[in-house]
Amino acid sequence: MRYHNITKDDMLNGDGLRVVLWVSGCSHCCKGCHNPITWDPNGGLAFDGEAKEEIFAELAKDYISGITLSGGDPLYFGNRSDVLRFVRELKGKFPEKTVWLYTGFVWETISGLEIMDYIDVLVDGEFQEGQKNTQLYWRGSANQRVINVPASRAEGKLVLHCR
Ligand code: SF4
Repeated sequence: MRYHNITKDDMLNGDGLRVVLWVSGCSHCCKGCHNPITWDPNGGLAFDGEAKEEIFAELAKDYISGITLSGGDPLYFGNRSDVLRFVRELKGKFPEKTVWLYTGFVWETISGLEIMDYIDVLVDGEFQEGQKNTQLYWRGSANQRVINVPASRAEGKLVLHCR
């Protein structure tokens, strides 16, 4: 997997203060995408041990609530196995920190992925320019949903994350 950036003390992509990993690779091609530079899976930098340690150092800080995986799409097919390995290791080291994941795929098609065992909140769906709304928390268009993953899996129906 490759990535474009690791941003710190982010307040816009999930609850609290977060570290955000912006991965490379996305096949959704949403019209009006804010980050088309991340579509190329070969763009950016290799997600190596150094990048991982940079993230773990952030998560070790008490005031950091967790990590958000964005991009690009962390669930781009070429990213899935690396993302699974990464979130598994991360949750092993920092079980108290939350993991948010943004994807262009919808919940109904990805809810069974093993990756979801390690995700607390999923923001799903492609960005749809016609439904763009800048007043929404954590999402760009009204079709996207902010999903409480553990509750949705436990109850067998969609449970939204409340602010
Ligand atoms: S899923 Fe996200 S990164 Fe991918 S094209 Fe759509 S808005 Fe852009």
